[in-house]
Order: sequence, then C-alpha cells, then structure tokens
Amino acid sequence: MSRKTFWGGVHPNDQKEFSRDVPYQVYLPKGEMVFPLNQHIGKPAKPVVQKGDAVLAGQLIAEADGFVSANIVSSCSGTVKDIKPRRTVMGTMALSIIIDNDGQFTPVQGIGAKTDYTTLSGQEILARIKAAGIVGLGGAGFPTHVKLAPKNASEIKYVIANGAECEPYITCDDQLMRTYAEEIVTGLKIMLTLFPKAEGVILIEQNKPEAIEAMQKACSAKANVRVLAVPVKYPQGGERSIISVVAGRELKLGMLPADAGCVVDNVSTVRAVYRAVCESEPLMEKGFTVSGDAVAHPCNLMIRIGTSCRELVEEAAGGIKEGMEAKKVLCGGPMMGIAMAGLDVPVNKSNNALTVLGEDEVELAEPEMTSCLRCGRCNQVCPLGLTPQMMAVAAERKNYERYEKKLYGLECIACGSCTYICPAKRPLMQLFKQTKAEIMAAKRK
Ligand code: SF4
Ligand code: SF4
Repeated sequence: MSRKTFWGGVHPNDQKEFSRDVPYQVYLPKGEMVFPLNQHIGKPAKPVVQKGDAVLAGQLIAEADGFVSANIVSSCSGTVKDIKPRRTVMGTMALSIIIDNDGQFTPVQGIGAKTDYTTLSGQEILARIKAAGIVGLGGAGFPTHVKLAPKNASEIKYVIANGAECEPYITCDDQLMRTYAEEIVTGLKIMLTLFPKAEGVILIEQNKPEAIEAMQKACSAKANVRVLAVPVKYPQGGERSIISVVAGRELKLGMLPADAGCVVDNVSTVRAVYRAVCESEPLMEKGFTVSGDAVAHPCNLMIRIGTSCRELVEEAAGGIKEGMEAKKVLCGGPMMGIAMAGLDVPVNKSNNALTVLGEDEVELAEPEMTSCLRCGRCNQVCPLGLTPQMMAVAAERKNYERYEKKLYGLECIACGSCTYICPAKRPLMQLFKQTKAEIMAAKRK
C-alpha cells in the first residue's frame, strides 16, 4: 500500500538548475588512476596484480575477500605503478592499487558480448553481478550480489529502483534516467527474476519531469514494472523514506529492507546490473555531477572509477569560475556530503558528485550559533522519528549509554535535516556523526 509521503523531512532549495539540463559527456581521464581496496562495505578486496604488471580496462585487479566484499576491476589500461596507502575522499588512508594510465583504455576481450538474460539462471545472474564488482552506487557501497540474495527472496514484494535524487545540486541520476531509461528498466527486470512475487517500482521525485516521462515510456510495454512519481521532500532518497512511501511500512530498529519485503537499489546500480549481465561489462564507469556556484561549467559526466577529483574539477568542469574562490568542496551534496581537505583523491564506486561552493555556509553560520532554543523543530523533521534535541545533549555530555540505548542515536542516517532546520544553527548532524564514530571505535576496542 503506497503512501503519499514519509514522516518528517525538509524542503531545501534543490539548486539543480546549475546542471539539470546538461547531457552526459564521457570524460576519459589523463592522469594516473587510483583504486582503494575498501570501496565497499565489508572486508577490503585482495590485490591479484603486482607492481609492474600490465593491465587492461575491465581486468580484475583485486578480488572480493569474504562474504561481504567486492571485486575491483581496472577502469583503464596501463601498468601497475604501485600498491600502497593513498588518501581517500573520506580523508583517511587506504591501501590502493595505482595504475599508470596509458590513455588507450584497451578493453579486456569479451567486454560488450551480448547475453539474453532470460536464458540465465538466478545463480548465473548473481555470479555475473558479483564478478562485475557491483556495489550500491548511490553511496551505500553494499555489495549488490549479497543484497540481491536475501534469505527471504520469496517474500520480497517490491524491487525498487531509487531515482529520487533528493540531495541538492546533484543531477546525474536525472540525466541517467533520461538517457538510459531502457537499460535501467531491463536491469530492474533482471533483478525481478530473482524475486518471483515482486513487482518493480521506479521511484522519482516530481521535480524530474523529463526523467519520469522517459522511464514511463520505457516501462510502457513491460509487465510488472511501473514509475512512482512522488512529492519533492528531503530525504526522499533514503531507504526508510522509500520503503515508507512504496510499501507503507516503517522499518523498526534493527530491521533490514528485506524484512519489510523490499529491495532498494539506486538507478545507477540497476543500470550497472544490466551492463554486467547483458553486455558483459564489469563496473568501470559511473554517472557523476560536478556542480556548485563556484565551478566554471557545472556538468554531468560519465566517468571512469579511479579518476582524480582534481582532474574532474579542473579539466572536465573547466576549473573555478573567473573572479570566484572555492571556499568549500564537498564530496556529494550540501546535506550529506563530506567537506574535502584536498582534491588529490580518486573517485570511488560510491561517490556521485563534487559540489564546489563560493561560500562555506557552516563557517558563515558559526558566529550566529547559539545554545539550543528548545523549539523542537529538529524532532519534527527527523525522518526516523528520533529526537535530535535530546541526542545532542547526550552526545555533548558523552553519555553514550543513553545516546545509544535510550535515544537510538546509532540509527541516525546523517541526513542533515535537523541541522538544516535548526534556528540556533547548531551543527547537529556533524555532532551525531562524530558521536557514532566514537561509539563504534569504543565497541571495536
Ligand atoms: S541527521 Fe540524524 S537525527 Fe538529524 S534528522 Fe537526520 S536522521 Fe534524524
Ligand atoms: S532545532 Fe535547534 S534550537 Fe530547536 S530544539 Fe532542535 S537543537 Fe534546539
């Protein structure tokens, strides 16, 4: 039973006008390519190449190491220059395979070979998705072959392609749906073969009329798949918000989407499934937005995973706009994105945007910050029904027991809605992220 919308949420200015109508351009990187081994949730992948090896585009360079892990393929041809720790977009160091890109992008033999997915068994489909190294490309990084094999496959009612793209500035999924609608619908049909009782739903916010039209056209002659256009509200793209709207179910603490009869994957992941299964193409490329008021040419790009963020801003998007200064660069958008310390880091599988801003709104808000006004607005917008006002008090007092056990603070998805609405300009989401990291570090000890 569908619902019109989910509990809570906010309405930030979507700022999509910078790049929403810019069609995809293919960007082929010129510089060295870097592949961190931890581009997914779970154990880092294990290198299967050595320094000095020649590699081709699409060649396996690191294999999944464990149940929740994922393969990594090279997205260029060239020579393995080194395997050593390099900085990631998160600002941490991770063991990485560095490849001297020869600029030829010579593919491994067999890429592009066509397969009719209806001739494959479920196990063969999952094996292809696993071999391709596909993980949640919308930010989650969860290995897709694991997500598509829940214990209760026969109880799944909805396989949902998430095309909400509710984060301000980001438009690559909008363009993906306009450009590759058939591939996304076929990817969804492939996923549906794994769930005998499920229907396919493509959820899109109503501020993407062209994408809605393209996806409806692609669905029209196909059974069992439909488009659901939903009101614009942040964070509609969160798994819980989607399940609330599509299935009319609220995920309780500790529940997984499969427990509510749902499997949710971003539209770019769904397209990657199509390309892996039907075109024998491992995960080498993805859609990406470079936007913001400080960048010369905001754009949507089809990029190779492993490309340097500096190259994407300075080459692909034309650098910083004349007369402007980039005060802040975010990996992602302004609600959930991570402020970057530098651009000399590679794009990994889960990244989908760089937002280059001429003002640092957090810095601007700092002088205006006051103590809590007890207005309760943060509690009203939290899509999970948490109490950010009380969580902040517990977090500031380092009362981790109360934060976790009484206030369920570890459930926070860091959507930033509470920070956005707070009239006292309190950096709530940042505090919750920090607190979660401290609690998890203590647990690991
Ligand atoms: S950041 Fe966390 S606490 Fe704040 S609104 Fe989002 S989920 Fe709720
Ligand atoms: S929105 Fe801000 S000021 Fe209002 S209760 Fe929450 S933390 Fe306090």
